[in-house]
Amino acid sequence: MAEWETVIGLECHVELSTQTKMFCGCRVGFGAQPNTDVCPVCLGHPGSLPVPNEEAIRRIVTIGLALDCRIAPHSLFHRKNYFYPDMPKNFQISQFDLPICVGGHLDVELPNGATKRVGITRVHMEEDTGKTTHGSASGRIHDADSALIDYNRAGTPLVECVSEPDIRSPEQAGAYIRELRATLEALDVSDVRMEEGSLRCDANVSLRPAGTEPLGTKVEIKNMNSIRSLERALTYEMARQQTALENGEAIVQETRHWDEDAGATKSMRSKEEAFDYRYFPEPDIPPLDPDLAWVEDLRAALPELPPARRERYVRAFDLKPMVADVLVGDRVSSALFEETLVLGTDPRLAANWITQDLAGLRNKAGAQAPNLVTARHVADLVALVAADTISGQGAKQALEDAFVTGDAIAGIVERRGLTQVSDTGALGAIVDRVLSENAEVAEQFRGGKHEVIGFLVGQVMKGSRGSANPKLAQEFLCERLNG
Ligand SMILES: [Zn+2]
Repeated sequence: MAEWETVIGLECHVELSTQTKMFCGCRVGFGAQPNTDVCPVCLGHPGSLPVPNEEAIRRIVTIGLALDCRIAPHSLFHRKNYFYPDMPKNFQISQFDLPICVGGHLDVELPNGATKRVGITRVHMEEDTGKTTHGSASGRIHDADSALIDYNRAGTPLVECVSEPDIRSPEQAGAYIRELRATLEALDVSDVRMEEGSLRCDANVSLRPAGTEPLGTKVEIKNMNSIRSLERALTYEMARQQTALENGEAIVQETRHWDEDAGATKSMRSKEEAFDYRYFPEPDIPPLDPDLAWVEDLRAALPELPPARRERYVRAFDLKPMVADVLVGDRVSSALFEETLVLGTDPRLAANWITQDLAGLRNKAGAQAPNLVTARHVADLVALVAADTISGQGAKQALEDAFVTGDAIAGIVERRGLTQVSDTGALGAIVDRVLSENAEVAEQFRGGKHEVIGFLVGQVMKGSRGSANPKLAQEFLCERLNG
């Protein structure tokens, strides 16, 4: 790609996790029975009147402030007109030329440790559409003979955050989304789950000869349901555009759909068929002129944001930057870590348990699985390992148990017999048995092949079902082998 520079801008849609919808009192949620959280307003019945949700406005202003945007003293809601079955009003209430938040930036930490500033063009408020499920074996529209429409999501507060075309690679795009997600998590404004659609992202991508200014023709990519999909789609699209350009073909300005299974982007519609949305000011909602003092109160109440938190973790607790990054990137982990600090646990040890073993268990179980591990569990594990009461191996087993049962660590250790065998009689007997069962290996050790000690310690651990103190086991083995 040396001769080509990639130019990427991202448009992210964030569903706010408010109690109620943007313009009515219906519940906002995920997974309710279809068409149960609806009313005349969000179903677009004639004569119904929208009333903006104050909490949603508070949240979008908070997002704008966290992204260092200017909060417009005067902004407007517009009607964006188009027909689609999952949009009951045949228009979406959105914002057009006067959005609430303009001109901010997000500082993104790149995998190589450098920081890149990505400009934020605007952050505006709108409402979500309903959801269509196509009735076909594949779930796709082209071979469907029916469609089911659920309006529960229609009217959910939706914040659109548009970046400047400052992103230069798929990795930078992934890092941008991670940072935006961590910021939104810190603000506690949305669930930001890409797999459930509460965070959705479209990408505009074009290529230009490296070192030149004018932008190439851009293509919009939709339907990426994870950061991995986003990075894959951008990588594919870069290669596709490069091949076309080098073959002398023009890039068509169009919207392309990412097909996860095919690993390719596919043309959806070209710009010639683009909609004319015929925006006009929403006549039922007055302009939004936020009180300056109210905006300044919200600015003063901003929580600690990811860069500050990362820095504090490294500075105050001597965490490795990578560990701090993992903690800050995940709300559950960072909340748990903060709670272990209150219990007086060693921060580095607690952070290791949370970002390694516990994160592994959570990944394996999936986002929806209950995680019953509390700060008390982590604190007890750290204390019992430090006191040599349980081995690292035993502690892992206790954590796995607590993850599912929520039982106290002391109870689990007792129930599963995880107390470390440090009593010399019991350990001595296991060591003797291992040496007699592995006489050949013992001979190799005596002959100078000292690396086999690891194998023998492993056998002692196995013989004690993980409850031996490995340090003590090694001492015993060496004593007998050298004696
Ligand atoms: Zn409603």
